[in-house]
Amino acid sequence: MVLVTVPILTANVDDAIAQAWQAQAAGADLVELRIDRALEQLEQLEQDVSVHDLIAAIPRFALPVAATIRHASEGGSWNGSEDDRLALYARCDRAGAAYIDIELAHLRPGWKPDRARLILSHHDFSGMGSDLSGLVRRMRAAGADVAKIAVTAQDAADLAVIERLHTDHRDEGPLVAIAMGEHGLASRLLAGVWGSHLAFARLPDQPGSAPGQPLVSDLIDGFRLRQQGPGTRVFGVIGSPVAHSLSPLIHNSAFAASAIDAVYVPFRVEDPVAFWRACGDWIEGLSITIPHKHALIEEVDELEDIAATIGAINTIYRTDTGSTIGANTDALAIVRCLEEAVGVLGTQRVMVLGAGGAARAAALACRLKGADVTIANRTYARAHALALASDCRAVELSEAPRRAYDVLINGTSVGMGKPDESPWPREAHRRASVVLDTVYTPLETRLLRDASAGGATTICGLDMFIGQAIEQFSRWTGVDAPEHLMYRLALEKLER
Ligand code: NAP
Repeated sequence: MVLVTVPILTANVDDAIAQAWQAQAAGADLVELRIDRALEQLEQLEQDVSVHDLIAAIPRFALPVAATIRHASEGGSWNGSEDDRLALYARCDRAGAAYIDIELAHLRPGWKPDRARLILSHHDFSGMGSDLSGLVRRMRAAGADVAKIAVTAQDAADLAVIERLHTDHRDEGPLVAIAMGEHGLASRLLAGVWGSHLAFARLPDQPGSAPGQPLVSDLIDGFRLRQQGPGTRVFGVIGSPVAHSLSPLIHNSAFAASAIDAVYVPFRVEDPVAFWRACGDWIEGLSITIPHKHALIEEVDELEDIAATIGAINTIYRTDTGSTIGANTDALAIVRCLEEAVGVLGTQRVMVLGAGGAARAAALACRLKGADVTIANRTYARAHALALASDCRAVELSEAPRRAYDVLINGTSVGMGKPDESPWPREAHRRASVVLDTVYTPLETRLLRDASAGGATTICGLDMFIGQAIEQFSRWTGVDAPEHLMYRLALEKLER
């Protein structure tokens, strides 16, 4: 079982005990007492309080304690002598610490706590280092009960190194292997799949002890760490940035509601091809978001027709034999939303605003359904190029409001995060038209407010977002997505 471990950085004994209670209430298993950080605070405050008080309080903690006095050479604050450090560790051991963590590089040969389990560790805050397997072997040979490697991912492709480390050393004893930083976040979220002995997570309002530590509640409830095991199927979303994505929330909840043993994690990816080539083996399916929707089109074995026509994919899924298929569920969702509103799309005159990814999916999806599509964009040349490529027509943005249409689609980013901005003049809305805004932050954009006031039927960007997600879910799992649950959770989060 993975032990969820909460770092405690304070020197204040009462605060430390309170945080241990909080950690226990949040579902954690262990706290890591960062004595080096406590000492640093006491020095800065010049307080007449000894760190011995903190160590003596170890039996009063609500959870077992891992004691750490991290050396400055590995990202900690300890600059003192090794004799002094070992004396403090011996105190922690006598006080009842469950684990003592010391760096392999600083281990005095033959030193071992009398009672606590020994974590031998290695930290690199600048990169991934080299020969991590060799380090794990040396830790075991030096008497480690637990081997711990914490390095720093430069990009998500580095996750492959951590996954391999766990695979290669699976049956040799407890191992903790982490890629720190946002690009390595998945190594923390997949601790239960990969069999890590510890998973570090922080309490709300606490900074954590290393870059990338998630909240305990997110790890346990959101990513269902307790339900993860070696057979859990891994899905995720790649993008940059990706931390804001609603997809982990809705897909993990949908897996849970459908009793599917799977987890969905965010991957902050800069080089998508390198990532997919390094990590694709252990990932069953992907969502792909900005700016990577074109990047993996050459990497999949097959494309769905509409994805091939659009030339962009937001989804990868696998067949029973493991081969990969690229899909564009954005386009499918646009069609689904519009057909629910207008019935047959083929008879409609559609005005698409924008010429980027969303507009391209909208224009081509509507065109493939037989609609008469006009494209208007701030940069006319892009509208013209898209129109040529998609058998649509282009018009200057200033001219567009004078053209007749039945359906208006905003595929620009205008209005995103700006509730008072709209890409379309208020007075140009047409009674009985249908207006779809791909933007969903805010939920009710200025465009939709104006359209509604002008007598149009409106479709919110969240409908499209949920539409593309349920198409992904059914491709990955073979079952229908719990659409209402996904919608409600996304709505609640956006409203918060
Ligand atoms: P993109 O490829 O960067 O395209 C952005 C488009 O917006 C371009 O046509 C650009 O015009 C136009 N634009 C940007 N700023 C503008 C301004 N101030 N005035 C007029 N036009 C402006 O982005 P994308 O990937 O297509 O995304 C566009 C929107 O769709 C985003 O808000 C995104 O969140 C949304 N989206 C929603 C969903 C969903 O599920 N609901 C899915 C995908 C995308 P130029 O060509 O002149 O630069």
